[in-house]
Amino acid sequence: MSRLPATATLLLTLLFAPAQAVEPPPAKDMAFVNARVLTMTGPGVLEGHTVIVRDGRIHALGPDADLSPAADDVVIDAGGRTLMPGLAEMHAHVPVPQGPHQPPGYTEDVLMLWVANGVTLARGMLGHPLHLELRDRLDRHEVLGPRLITSGPSFSGQSVSAIEEARRRVAAQAEDGYDFLKIHPGLTREQYDAIVEAAAAAEIRLAGHIPVDVGLARALAAGQETVDHLDGYIHALVEDPAAHPDAARSFFGIGLMPHVQREAIASVAAETRASGAAMVPTETLFENFLAAVEDMEELTERPENVYLPPALKSAYLARLEDAGAMAEVVAEFLALRKELLGALHRSGVPILLGSDSPQIMNVPGFASHRELEAMVAAGLSPFAALQSGTTAPARFFGHEGRYGSIVPGAEADLILLRDDPLADIGNTRSIDGVMVRGRWLDRAFLDAELARIRERYAAL
Ligand SMILES: [Zn+2]
Repeated sequence: MSRLPATATLLLTLLFAPAQAVEPPPAKDMAFVNARVLTMTGPGVLEGHTVIVRDGRIHALGPDADLSPAADDVVIDAGGRTLMPGLAEMHAHVPVPQGPHQPPGYTEDVLMLWVANGVTLARGMLGHPLHLELRDRLDRHEVLGPRLITSGPSFSGQSVSAIEEARRRVAAQAEDGYDFLKIHPGLTREQYDAIVEAAAAAEIRLAGHIPVDVGLARALAAGQETVDHLDGYIHALVEDPAAHPDAARSFFGIGLMPHVQREAIASVAAETRASGAAMVPTETLFENFLAAVEDMEELTERPENVYLPPALKSAYLARLEDAGAMAEVVAEFLALRKELLGALHRSGVPILLGSDSPQIMNVPGFASHRELEAMVAAGLSPFAALQSGTTAPARFFGHEGRYGSIVPGAEADLILLRDDPLADIGNTRSIDGVMVRGRWLDRAFLDAELARIRERYAAL
């Protein structure tokens, strides 16, 4: 049910229904036979298996010899290719129509780029009233895209002034039906505490950044459910960050690098584990900053950049010009982040796959595959990296068995891969087809949609 006023509903019907909107194909009863199934419920692989999909759900899974497709099932012979659950983008920015530098239809393009790359769940980190309606339209398969879980508009030093007003906004966002609250930088400790209290009363969780005045320890104690970008961790490794106020307010604390005590990593990781918070590291965001310092040409010439509207690409590159000022420490900063991520993972902290797409040169979907590679570079096994995008998000949302794994009864979010992602995590790119809650998108369909987006952007 929409709680939006009629004028807003009319406006969003107009905005979300441009000529290019793609309707998903109807759900068909299907069977994948002779598949190598990565159920993600354990590290094993099921060779020579059949997966039967009925009414958008996994109906049955078993060895080829034991399970036969029905006469009217659409049968896909996987020929030994790998079938795995769809991936989550746990730090997504769903564009709002008519945002700066965006061509018409950009929201639908981003949704398509995600699904074309196997992303079947998006956690929207910068909510907008329009996203509530979009979430419902995606659920009803009126628009093709991932399942959407969305925050409300963010709480930041800019959006919050009076404490009472912040409390009211928390209650209003819970009432409007947002899934969680987004915390951005700049909140004072007093504002943050008031938001935490109001959120508990309204039974809504909060997630996102760690404001400098709040600090990691307070946010973990308050039950913030995710720390995104590993924000606040550099500060937590410095004895007295308040003694370096400018450095503490620098880009994710990069200015604090000379004061970092690496020996504190183990205790900070243990404290995180005890809090139950999950991490969405978004390493690609930081790798893009490193690339801007070390190899701007590689960054500007990436093959997937054809899926960025040119004006938006220029705007992102302009923001990366600041990176030059950090040139001396950025490589060391990246190395420390990898060390932290590895330590958090080894301590048992849930790691969730998020790339901050489409922000700052993170091309939707394509960036998720880069993020998986960054996790493996930080010491996660390919299986652990895949968990971060499949079973870990499902567990995080309390939806284990509903999606994120190939088990009977789960919604059929699937990726068919030519090559084995456990042998090389880069093989998550070898996509032959994607199923979005029972809607099968084969390679020809995905190629046609990608070409349509690419050609429109090339003509801008
Ligand atoms: Zn973000």
